[in-house]
Amino acid sequence: MQSKTILTFYGGVNEIGGNKVLLKDKDTKIFLDFGMPFALRGQFYSAPFLAPKSEKSLLEFDILPRLSGIYESENSEPEIDAVFISHSHMDHAAYTTFLKKSIPVYCGETTKILLEALSKIRVRNLEFNVKDIQFKPFRTGDKIQIGSVEVEPVHVDHSVPGAYGFVIHTSSGSLAYTGDFRLHGTRPEMTKDFIEKAKEAKPVAMIPEGTNMAGAEISSEPEVEKKLTKIIKGTSGIVLVDFARADVDRLRSVYQAAKRNGRNLVIPLKQAYLLEALKQKDKELRKDPRIPNLNDEHIMIFQKAKKRYYVWERELMERYQTKVVDSSKIAKKQSRMVLAFSFYDFEELVEIKPKPGSCYISSVSEPYDEEMQIDYERMTNWLNHYGLPLYHVHISGHIMPLQLKETLQAIKPKQIFPIHGAYPELFSRFMSNLKSKITLVEREKEYTV
Ligand SMILES: [Zn+2]
Ligand SMILES: [Zn+2]
Repeated sequence: MQSKTILTFYGGVNEIGGNKVLLKDKDTKIFLDFGMPFALRGQFYSAPFLAPKSEKSLLEFDILPRLSGIYESENSEPEIDAVFISHSHMDHAAYTTFLKKSIPVYCGETTKILLEALSKIRVRNLEFNVKDIQFKPFRTGDKIQIGSVEVEPVHVDHSVPGAYGFVIHTSSGSLAYTGDFRLHGTRPEMTKDFIEKAKEAKPVAMIPEGTNMAGAEISSEPEVEKKLTKIIKGTSGIVLVDFARADVDRLRSVYQAAKRNGRNLVIPLKQAYLLEALKQKDKELRKDPRIPNLNDEHIMIFQKAKKRYYVWERELMERYQTKVVDSSKIAKKQSRMVLAFSFYDFEELVEIKPKPGSCYISSVSEPYDEEMQIDYERMTNWLNHYGLPLYHVHISGHIMPLQLKETLQAIKPKQIFPIHGAYPELFSRFMSNLKSKITLVEREKEYTV
């Protein structure tokens, strides 16, 4: 039996995302997040033509850590007691897919709704499928006892709804795990609640994200909404906007900007499916009048041209028959539309034929939160062909360096283990005048707290 608490990092080390932190306390073992490491995976694979075929391939390159007693494919008793997922982004949640179904997966209620909906629309996906997972939903205020460890989830603001940080009480003292968080979104008070709880716990160790050390800027989600409104106002043709499907804050910003300019927002089937699930099942989002439901007069659904539709797609189109538009319909009403549109939809431009005075807005910057890397060269060729200027309007889902430093200064943890960032040395130098000891994490090494 171990008397100390030990942390081992199986992901999120020197890279943005892929968090998998094993916490051992006495004979209790829990994982904090179990995500897909986009950067590491991208070193070997490039979907769709070079995609991993099996779990074995992922283990070969340590994309999935080589651990015994945790994967469903192995016939043995589970060696871990629980997994805690901070939020629904794939770099935190996807690889729960491979875990033994007898291991309980704790996550926020919104995260459960999103993961189940995402799993349904990504048909037959090796790396993400939550079928048969035993989700144990939590809310802020809950205290979850797992053996000698007590986990307190506290909501934080991030670019997906239902994100949490954890304050974890162990036999060596308390730990604080931020997950992904920020202070410049639409709900900074939630992040402040987490900071307050973490501070009260006087943590012996803290595991913060450090995504934006080399990509900081000053803006906010409300500012993004203002900029979108201005661009749409000045555009005479169609407005095409690329943004993350599960980023409800951004959806709200684009929707508000479209509505203010008397336009309809047209969203793809996948986004419509997620929004319907959230509006039906999530108590908080249902009440938020700024987030539209699919029956809203300014919302329409985009039917891309293809030979066959999945059952969920056909059912959704039947439920909202009057809302569905295809490219030829959109082409006729360009000045009335804002179309949610990603690089993978570009083929539809042949039918839409954007009129002179149309615009493309890129409202994304985080390929590690999505599955794809944007192919800028090809994208530029398309935009050039159709005479579409490219506007970039975005703000990150992650905390900025100065605010992170203030946060760490306020919480005063004894030790800091920075993860979820590509520049841990930069992080540790920038933070080196704090009173906390900063440890540069190595993958799969054990750290005693
Ligand atoms: Zn992340
Ligand atoms: Zn995230």
